[in-house]
Amino acid sequence: MISREHIEALGRICGPKGSTTDPDVLAPHLSEWRDKFTGKTALMLMPQTAAEAAAAVAYCNDHSIALVPQGGNTGLVGGSLPGLGKADEILVSTKRMSRIVTVDADNYSITAEAGCTVAALQAAAEAENRLFPLSLASEGSCTVGGIVSTNAGGVHVVRYGNTRALTLGIEAILPDGSIYDGLTSLRKDNTGYALDQLLIGAEGTLGLVTRATFKLYPKEVERHTLWLGVNSVKDALSLLSSAREATGDRVSVFELMPHTGLEFVLNHIPDTRNPLDTAHLWYLLIDIGTSAPDTALKTAIENWVETALSNGLVQNGAIATSGKQASAFWQLRESMSEAQKHEGASIKHDISVPVSNVPAFIEEATATLEKTYSGVRVTPFGHLGDGNLHFNVMQPKGADKTEFLAHWEAMNELVHDIVINYGGSISAEHGIGSLKKAELARTKPKAALTAMKSIKQALDPKGIMNPNVLFE
Ligand SMILES: Cc1cc2nc3c(=O)[nH]c(=O)nc-3n(C[C@H](O)[C@H](O)[C@H](O)COP(=O)(O)OP(=O)(O)OC[C@H]3O[C@@H](n4cnc5c(N)ncnc54)[C@H](O)[C@@H]3O)c2cc1C
Repeated sequence: MISREHIEALGRICGPKGSTTDPDVLAPHLSEWRDKFTGKTALMLMPQTAAEAAAAVAYCNDHSIALVPQGGNTGLVGGSLPGLGKADEILVSTKRMSRIVTVDADNYSITAEAGCTVAALQAAAEAENRLFPLSLASEGSCTVGGIVSTNAGGVHVVRYGNTRALTLGIEAILPDGSIYDGLTSLRKDNTGYALDQLLIGAEGTLGLVTRATFKLYPKEVERHTLWLGVNSVKDALSLLSSAREATGDRVSVFELMPHTGLEFVLNHIPDTRNPLDTAHLWYLLIDIGTSAPDTALKTAIENWVETALSNGLVQNGAIATSGKQASAFWQLRESMSEAQKHEGASIKHDISVPVSNVPAFIEEATATLEKTYSGVRVTPFGHLGDGNLHFNVMQPKGADKTEFLAHWEAMNELVHDIVINYGGSISAEHGIGSLKKAELARTKPKAALTAMKSIKQALDPKGIMNPNVLFE
């Protein structure tokens, strides 16, 4: 148990509004959206400045008190909740560090505090005629510290890259309480080890991120949204390649959905309809954008669709003619997870394989699962543009939910082994958290795991930073 003396000392460091032990205030910080995990803690700290955060971390290090950083709590892998493991952990929320620090339009960069949401970053960039391209369904809640610590991706990775590709600099509190000032907005800096790169994707195990600087891009002023019906994932892959060529590489979204997924949405989400008057095995949602008005782009897209229809790669399609229609296409994609909940339990795999291996991976994994677990409904969807799929496996119709979920670990192993054979990763977006620790230990090459542990030991010898994630 964390003693009253420590609670009071940490409370003094973070000031009158900087800590709470009130169970009602703590409650929403101790569960996740999927209700898979419930955390526990005696104390939540809410520092407002890097100096306060540094003093609190130093105190924790001196007294061997473990802490768990939390941003928007949208990670879903049990990484942002305290008390899931053996140690008593305190929670450190970044919600009082939520300012935009600067938008430097000429440098195409933005700096913000750790608790600033992605939606706020996008709005601040837009106000300066710039684009912060990271976009994900949780953007109203997820934060700078969270996206850095999980190397978040989202729907625009095919064109703009993930958080790692967008990050220029980071300020963080290291486990001994020192402030690492790597908050540069430089495009070039060859001065030894890239510590920022270690903090990206570290899931709070190497330090508490307090500020970050990201790249911006010219704002897209013209956007074409397409909904296409296709026969196979192999055809979808060919279309991805030809769309990038035909549009001067301006494809910013290339999402894949199966017919079963669309059916779930049409059956369970009000006011939705198939944009096409025909049904197809697979559907694609594509956005193509440009920062300068370009009539030739519209013609290029129409010609590309015509060619694809005539050579049979596209079976039927629609190009949105208004913002309202584009939003209706998007609603179908964004409702995929919600609609699946109405069909019962699903076992999830947040995986990636090289883009060119997606068709073979889906075919082999689907066949293996259908053979091993009779009646399951395999419903993979996601970011074909970057090879990342939400490889969801729905329970057989009418099956018992709890009995089905008991297969979670065995099914994960089966799918992950196929992922690894295709050169893929067992976590493409959400991270490892506490959910996938055993799978990381089982699948990560030994040399890589040993090096990761050495880095953790060097920076955090007392193991105070988020000790229940990544490693068993
Ligand atoms: C509906 C929905 C859609 C999603 N879609 C996507 C998607 O398309 N792409 C994608 O990549 N992810 C997606 N996610 C996952 C999630 O939004 C991301 O992982 C996001 O980056 C988490 O940010 P957060 O602020 O909520 O972090 P949290 O959930 O609070 O924390 C996540 C991890 O980061 C650590 N952390 C948080 N803040 C800090 C900090 N300041 N310093 C150090 N460590 C910290 C936590 O300890 C934890 O380990 C989605 C989630 C939901 C609920």
